[in-house]
Amino acid sequence: MWEEKDIKKVLVSEEQIQKRAEELGRQITEDYKNNPPLLVALLRGSVPFLAELIKHIDLDIQYDFMDVSSYEGTESIGDIRINKDLDTSIKGLDLLLVEDIVDTGRTIDTVQKMLLHKGAKSVEVVTLLDKPSRRINDMSPKYAGFEVENEFVVGFGMDFDQKYRALPYIGVLKDECYENKE
Ligand code: IMP
Repeated sequence: MWEEKDIKKVLVSEEQIQKRAEELGRQITEDYKNNPPLLVALLRGSVPFLAELIKHIDLDIQYDFMDVSSYEGTESIGDIRINKDLDTSIKGLDLLLVEDIVDTGRTIDTVQKMLLHKGAKSVEVVTLLDKPSRRINDMSPKYAGFEVENEFVVGFGMDFDQKYRALPYIGVLKDECYENKE
């Protein structure tokens, strides 16, 4: 894989992701057995995680996508912008937001409040990664795959400058990859 040469270390392997997605899927199946949720995946980073997770949710679920942005380079900035809204009417539905990583928590907190305001019955969060040390609010995902340190990560959907999303594991880039980008 061309990306491998840029990776300094692997943080979470493909096998670990698969195993954790299975555990989360089982937990979600149990928790939502009486009210299968609409999964709302935030583009684009959550797509590989959504694909892995739904293999293990044994319920009649549906999923839809939203694209919001608040992020450029490696620092969170400004407010979020809706680039693509949901196609599904969410009034009265139990929603499960699917995220790649909760960092400052700003994006998911804003989206959660907005969807509740639009009439969703409940809005919970499942994220592959959680970076609690970066949080600027009290957002706490109901389901989190792995906690990571305050370090920028790529792979399994997560990018740097739109690159590295297709890596099957989560890793940290070599310092030289950021040169000429700051
Ligand atoms: P937040 O609003 O600060 O929580 O940012 C969440 C979004 O920022 C995530 O959905 C990612 O798209 C992006 N993000 C945050 N941390 C990282 C990282 O370490 N690598 C890649 N993207 C990240």
